[in-house]
Amino acid sequence: MYLLAALNRLLSSGLVDIKSTGAILLGDSFAIDGYYNRLARVITHAHSDHLRGLTESIQYSSMIIAHPITIELLFEIINMSSTHKYMLRQKAIPLNYNQEIEVNKEILKLLPANHIIGSAQVHVETHGFRLGFTGDFRLLNNTPVMKNLDVLVIEATYGRPEYRRPFKHEIDSILIETVIDGLSSSKPVVIYGYYGKLQEVMKILRDGGIKEPFIMPPKIYRITKIAERYGHNIGNYYNINSREAREIRRNNAGYIMFYHMTRARYRDIRRSVNIILSGWEFNDPVKRVDPGTWLVALSDHADYEELMRYVEKAEPGFVVVDNSREGAAYDLARSIKKELGIQAIVLPDSSGDARIDQYCRV
Ligand SMILES: [Zn+2]
Repeated sequence: MYLLAALNRLLSSGLVDIKSTGAILLGDSFAIDGYYNRLARVITHAHSDHLRGLTESIQYSSMIIAHPITIELLFEIINMSSTHKYMLRQKAIPLNYNQEIEVNKEILKLLPANHIIGSAQVHVETHGFRLGFTGDFRLLNNTPVMKNLDVLVIEATYGRPEYRRPFKHEIDSILIETVIDGLSSSKPVVIYGYYGKLQEVMKILRDGGIKEPFIMPPKIYRITKIAERYGHNIGNYYNINSREAREIRRNNAGYIMFYHMTRARYRDIRRSVNIILSGWEFNDPVKRVDPGTWLVALSDHADYEELMRYVEKAEPGFVVVDNSREGAAYDLARSIKKELGIQAIVLPDSSGDARIDQYCRV
């Protein structure tokens, strides 16, 4: 019964909550990945569904806490007025992994999440409770698992049992092989993905021995520069508007282009080999979707198996599954209770019948 009493105390006092705007509230001081009237806005990473309400946070919160890479990415990715940029510079607190910050007697630290560059999990100690939010993550060998938590808040993107990628450990080498095959076709290889993830892909390709030049539009170029500054050695990459890039492209082959996912629909399937990175593939690691396009199942999210393994390793008192973003929150909560015997609730609750005490038979 201790757990039920503790959870009720945490929820009724607002020390743990998730708003439909996407704000994850931990402690008295922190609103994570969405705007809420709290002293500090915390950002786990620079993807748009985690940047909601950022201008409100810049205006009304006193501090914006994120990993230094994420802070730099904000200036590149978001269209902000010069006033908001100025305010962000004033309020930004770049926090490295494992570095602690104390705000109103609450202690917060960020931990690596292996999702995109700069991505972080959030750990908060408050009123004698230990709370954690995974943010978006992948469970690799070096992903830290937050243990001894009273409450773990977890993402649920691939929270359904059928969302498993059995080939996930081989997918890096499959991507490298697909790129090598493409390069041998005497056409340029064009890769489509999201900001942050593209830079991870560049690193995978370089680590896989691919030395050909990378060419990219100015925004992706600037983000790649940020990644390099923080230790992602990429090298031999060029802004598409540069003289070097024009020279390289004159040959019509022997190079790799990187574009944002939104450009994939305009791809040229005759004159280039296109690779689209998609997390929503569970059966085949690589699928040919038309004569000039390959879909590669490279995801930057934990699949169902990783989500469950994280909770199993963390052994928290309670799990709160984030239902404010895309995902399968109810399925994941059900699996956690049934398979792991750990109590789990979904917030914000949209089922209309999920009272806390239903979930808290301890
Ligand atoms: Zn993300």
